[in-house]
Amino acid sequence: MNSYVEKDLQYIWHPCAQMKDYEELNPIVIEKGEGVWLYDINGKRYLDCISSWWTNTLGHSNKRINEAIKKQIDNIEHVIFANFSNKPAIELAEKLVKITPNKLKKVFFSDNGSSAVEIALKMSFHYNMQRGNVKKKKFVALSDAYHGETLGALSVCDIDEFNTVYKPLLLDTIRVEGPDCYRCTYNRDSCHAECFGNMEKCMIENNQEISAVIVEPMVQGAAGMKIYSPIYLKKLRKLCDEYDIHLILDEIAVGFGRTGEMFACNHAKISPDFMCLSKGISAGYMPMSVVMTTDEVYNCFYGDYKDRKSFLHSHTYSGNAMACAIALENLKIFEEENIIEQNKKKGEFIKKLTLEKAKLSNYIGEVRSLGMITAIEIVRDKETKEGYPWHMRVGYEIYKIALRKGLVLRPIGNVLYFIPPYIINEDEIEFMVNTCFQSIEEYFKSNTFKVYN
Ligand SMILES: *Cc1c(COP(=O)(O)O)cnc(C)c1O
Repeated sequence: MNSYVEKDLQYIWHPCAQMKDYEELNPIVIEKGEGVWLYDINGKRYLDCISSWWTNTLGHSNKRINEAIKKQIDNIEHVIFANFSNKPAIELAEKLVKITPNKLKKVFFSDNGSSAVEIALKMSFHYNMQRGNVKKKKFVALSDAYHGETLGALSVCDIDEFNTVYKPLLLDTIRVEGPDCYRCTYNRDSCHAECFGNMEKCMIENNQEISAVIVEPMVQGAAGMKIYSPIYLKKLRKLCDEYDIHLILDEIAVGFGRTGEMFACNHAKISPDFMCLSKGISAGYMPMSVVMTTDEVYNCFYGDYKDRKSFLHSHTYSGNAMACAIALENLKIFEEENIIEQNKKKGEFIKKLTLEKAKLSNYIGEVRSLGMITAIEIVRDKETKEGYPWHMRVGYEIYKIALRKGLVLRPIGNVLYFIPPYIINEDEIEFMVNTCFQSIEEYFKSNTFKVYN
């Protein structure tokens, strides 16, 4: 065994993993990245189909972004953000206010997605307390939602594997059955987001108690890339206004072009009261997040210090100058290279190839796609849409085969997906889709599958 691998196993506890698995499938130590490719210490290369956990926008070791970092680091790397500021943070905040929906006027910086969710929840609650709405203490979230894993964020999540054990520690959240288009019982060809009825009922019954509704707009990522109609978001915005409830959009995974629009809420042409952004904001280079909000919320916290209205939440690395410089260059490249328009075309191409391949396969229940997200759901029975039981780890087994072939997939249960860096080219797309389907076929012919089945 390579000594790096040995030491990794000796010293490191990896996220989202059963460490025993690492003894069979050793950690892959990456030495270098270039575009969509990752190179390990043995020189083997892998196509990063998932943009290193949905963060990378413009490829690994992007020349322009690397230059922007080098330039920034010779000026200032980081400075306290209380009472101090820095040029990249100021320029970035101005830019973000310009490109996000029109109600969003203020930018609050933090350093990871979960923190951004915590901030939005706290701001919404705090706003209501300052307004004397003391009964508004609850949050509403959707079934299968994912919003991060610190305790507040986890409270609005609904992913069994992450939630169940911590239930005694979590906030009392109202859970609403959300959209599930693949298994929808309404007529899918003429969707009017009938499933919104569940949310409507909840809001009618509980609006006095609800501070905010939080959703992942258009795509529930960790739920297996469940894509739903913008009509749902339109209805949600309208009802939140009617009942004086904040709408928090968690755009952490879908913001910055992933869905084919700059922000996923643009599909529905709505503006939230809070927008959480992270992941793609800093091109996959550095931890960074922001919460954007309205003048109305901001003004509610404005006053003399003795009024005790301030929002005293803080993170050490808020407004980090390096991360902001990266985010600015990221957005500049988006504009100059017309990334959003390109994503629409590339997304269509990935979808077309995937659909062609899926038609020839016996194992695919659905291909769903929005912009630069394409997901494949594997089912045991296309009629009943029944999946394989979790303990078979179908996705994980296919993941291991694909790795040997030079592809980094990271399936969620029975769902495989492509969320590649936006700079992926046609040849790379073909390699990605073909290799993925080869891996699927190989798995179903393998002894592992036969033993389980
Ligand atoms: C990744 C993610 C988070 C959490 O972000 P972290 O930086 O991992 O804490 C929250 N919400 C969504 C939708 C995400 O995809």
